[in-house]
Amino acid sequence: MSVLVYISTPNGHISKSAIEAVYYGSQIGEVTALANGNVSKDDLANLGKYGAKNVLLHASETEDPSQLSKMIQKAATSASADTIILSYDLIGKAIAPRVSAGMKAGYVPGATTLPDANGLIKTNVFSGKAKGLVKVNTPKRIIGLTPNSIPLVEGNDVATVTDFSEEIGNSSITIKEIKKQEGDILLTEADLVVSAGRGLKGPENWGMVEDLAKTLGAATACSRPVADIGWRPHHEHVGQTGIAIRPNLYIAAGISGAIQHLAGVNQSKTIVVINTDPEAPFFKAADYGVIGDAFEVLPALNEAIKNFKANN
Ligand SMILES: Cc1cc2nc3c(=O)[nH]c(=O)nc-3n(C[C@H](O)[C@H](O)[C@H](O)COP(=O)(O)OP(=O)(O)OC[C@H]3O[C@@H](n4cnc5c(N)ncnc54)[C@H](O)[C@@H]3O)c2cc1C
Repeated sequence: MSVLVYISTPNGHISKSAIEAVYYGSQIGEVTALANGNVSKDDLANLGKYGAKNVLLHASETEDPSQLSKMIQKAATSASADTIILSYDLIGKAIAPRVSAGMKAGYVPGATTLPDANGLIKTNVFSGKAKGLVKVNTPKRIIGLTPNSIPLVEGNDVATVTDFSEEIGNSSITIKEIKKQEGDILLTEADLVVSAGRGLKGPENWGMVEDLAKTLGAATACSRPVADIGWRPHHEHVGQTGIAIRPNLYIAAGISGAIQHLAGVNQSKTIVVINTDPEAPFFKAADYGVIGDAFEVLPALNEAIKNFKANN
């Protein structure tokens, strides 16, 4: 079976979720990866470690989903791929349905497992509240892989990188402004996330959230009202109407745990909740709960982790 995996490379960096998609693809068949833009060929060759045999590199730096969709379809034809895999992130979600329509291929959004012996793939549905079992019955299929669904295993192989210069047409989109996300760790890529809500009373109190995140090497996130009021940037807003994340650790301080918030974080592997109200709904979703004041608990946790790191 031949598999094409689209690799998104924001700012020339190969995202963790793209690497997961390559490894996932390698468990299905022979992987050709496709990347575009200004990305190092050495980094692309390294995808061999995760199972890519070949990598096609298109010079276009376009971020237009219709052009990327054309690029993917042409690469799929060139690699004779019957399975096309994209990460189920903001970019993948914008491209995959276009590829699906263009190739008349069934689409599995939000896959969390490999296809089983009968071709059934588990997916997250209703914001992770339920599981779907999906089987595609078209000859070709598109799979959108939920980030952080599968553990990576690293090998020693090196992929062959070739230039790919198919025509992808002109973009119909005019980009007026690009706002780059600030911070060293992208929220969508983060293994560890420290998040806070309205319980923190005001933006001036976020220093303790940032300090803890820095000590842990975590990204920061927030509840929706916090972003709506302008205490924090919108790209930190997680939940039903924000970003859905799946980190290994999600620490939530001063967040009530409304269902719309949980929809974006309830797939986290471990959830730690800090809240003064023992009846806060978030405690029902928590693996660990601290009934306490975030203004005391966050700095104490930070100090304890710093001490632990210094002595280990
Ligand atoms: C259609 C729709 C979509 C929505 N989408 C989203 C979404 O994507 N993401 C999202 O987050 N929300 C979303 N919401 C809003 C959601 O319903 C909640 O209103 C919101 O999540 C509450 O934010 P919060 O927990 O920060 O604030 P609050 O509900 O005000 O809760 C603050 C919490 O902090 C605790 N607290 C107070 N002081 C302290 C302290 N000193 N230390 C520790 N804890 C303290 C309180 O006990 C309370 O539990 C949506 C709502 C709707 C209707």
